Amino acid sequence: MSANRPASADIRASVLDPLQMTSEQDRQLHGKTCARCPRQDDLRPGGMAYVRSGQDGTGRLGYPVNVCPDHADTGGAW
Ligand SMILES: [Zn+2]
Repeated sequence: MSANRPASADIRASVLDPLQMTSEQDRQLHGKTCARCPRQDDLRPGGMAYVRSGQDGTGRLGYPVNVCPDHADTGGAW
């Protein structure tokens, strides 16, 4: 898998491709880690992340994600 992706990538910043998601993104998407970093403790609701869906890729599935205290004020106006 690619190691080029910056660790600080915010999964809320773009619509994820389910066929190209990393295991890290999968954990973020399911709220097991912060939406922006690998932190797993002291998480709180952090808005929604979106994944492409449907045969033509134009559908969107939304997932409620969590953020850590360091990133609780990022991600736009949720
Ligand atoms: Zn974080």
